[in-house]
Amino acid sequence: MRLALNGGEPIRQTLLPYGRQTVGDDDICAVEQVLRSDWLTTGPKVEEFEEVFAGYVGAKYAVAFSSGTAGLHAAVFAAGLGPNDEAITTPLTFAATANCLLYQGARPVFADVQPDTLNIDPEQIIRCLNPRVKAILPVDYAGHPAELDEIRRIAERNGLVIIEDAAHALGATYNGRRIGTLSTMTVFSTHPVKHITTGEGGVVTTQDAKLMELLRLFRNHGIRGNARERQEQGKWFYEMVALGYNYRVTDIQCALGITQLQKLDGWLGRRRAIASIYSHALEQIPEIEIPVQQPHCDSAWHLYVIRLNLERLRVDRSQVFRALRAENIGVTVHYIPVPWHPYYQQLGYRKGQWPVAESACERILTLPLFPRMTDSDVEDVIRGLHKVVDAFRA
Ligand SMILES: *Cc1c(COP(=O)(O)O)cnc(C)c1O
Repeated sequence: MRLALNGGEPIRQTLLPYGRQTVGDDDICAVEQVLRSDWLTTGPKVEEFEEVFAGYVGAKYAVAFSSGTAGLHAAVFAAGLGPNDEAITTPLTFAATANCLLYQGARPVFADVQPDTLNIDPEQIIRCLNPRVKAILPVDYAGHPAELDEIRRIAERNGLVIIEDAAHALGATYNGRRIGTLSTMTVFSTHPVKHITTGEGGVVTTQDAKLMELLRLFRNHGIRGNARERQEQGKWFYEMVALGYNYRVTDIQCALGITQLQKLDGWLGRRRAIASIYSHALEQIPEIEIPVQQPHCDSAWHLYVIRLNLERLRVDRSQVFRALRAENIGVTVHYIPVPWHPYYQQLGYRKGQWPVAESACERILTLPLFPRMTDSDVEDVIRGLHKVVDAFRA
C-alpha cells in the first residue's frame, strides 16, 4: 500500500485527533441553567463541584481553579516555597509542572525517569536531594501513578511536601487507593483533552484544612473570606493578607464539571477498553513497544504512549510521525523534556543529564485515545501503524 505521504490513499479521510472532549445535552442544559441564575461566578456551583470532586477521589477538601496550572501555582504557594528553595520534578512533563516553581521564585531540579513507566525514579530523587529541596512534584505520566509509596517515604525522611501533578490521572488507583489523597496536595486539570472538562479549569485536593485555606486565599488575590458571603451578610470590609491572583473559576464552568463527573466512570471504562484493544493488537508488532501497566496500579489512560524500536526501522520518529499524520491519524509527542525548552536552556539547564527520559523522548508517540472513539476509529489507528511500519521496516 502506498503511503499517503507519497501520494497514496490515506487510511482516513479526516484527522482523528489524539484527544477530544465529550459534551452532551445534560451538560449543555446545566450550563444554561447557570446562565439564567443569579450567580455566574463563585456561587453555589463552585462549592457543589468542589464537594462532588472531593467525594469522588475520597479527599477531605477540593479547591477549584481557573486552570490546572493555576492550581499548581497555588499549591507551590501553599507549600510555602519561595526564592532559595528547590523542588524535584520529572523532565518528562508539560512545562507547567516546573513553571509553577519559577512563578514563586523556586528552582526546579529534574530527576530522571524509570525506563518502564517513564515516571520519576525514586532513586534519582534521592540523588537530587540537598538542603534547599523542600518539595517533590511527581507526575502520574499518561495516567499511570508514580511510585507514590516510595516517594512518600523519601518525603517523610527528609521533611518534604509532595505536590502530585495528577493532570493525567483522574480516576487512577495506586495499591487500590484512588489518586487524590496520597500526596500532600494533588493537582488535576479539567482542560478539554483531560478526563472531564470545564473548558479551562483545575482542582487541588488535600486532607489538610490549613492548606485548603491557603489555596482558597491564593485563588482570590490573597483576600480573606469571599464576596458572596459578604454580599449575603450585608458586609463590605475585607483584608488582603498575601499576594494572590485572580485564579477563580466560574459557576458556568463548575456546572459543566458536575455533570461531566457523573459520566467519568463510564469514560474511564471506555479508555481502558481502547487501551486494551491497542495493546493486544500492537504487541504483535516488533517495531512497537506498548506501554507498561504495573500490577499494583490502575492507570486512568489519559494517554496511550508507544515507543518505536528505531533499530528495526529505516527512519526516525519524525518520519513515522509525518507518515501517520498524512494517513490522518492524529499522533503527537508527550513530551519534549522540560529542561530542553529554550527558556530553561537560557536558565542554565544542560541537555544530557537525564539519559532515560532523553532517549525515550526520541522514540515516543501518543496514539489517539478518547472515550467517543469508535471501534472503527481504533481499527484505523492500528491499520495505520501496520501500514507505516511495513513501509519503513529495516
Ligand atoms: C494539562 C496539564 C497541566 C496543566 O493543566 P491546564 O489545566 O492546561 O493548566 C499540567 N501538567 C500536566 C502534566 C498536564 O498534562
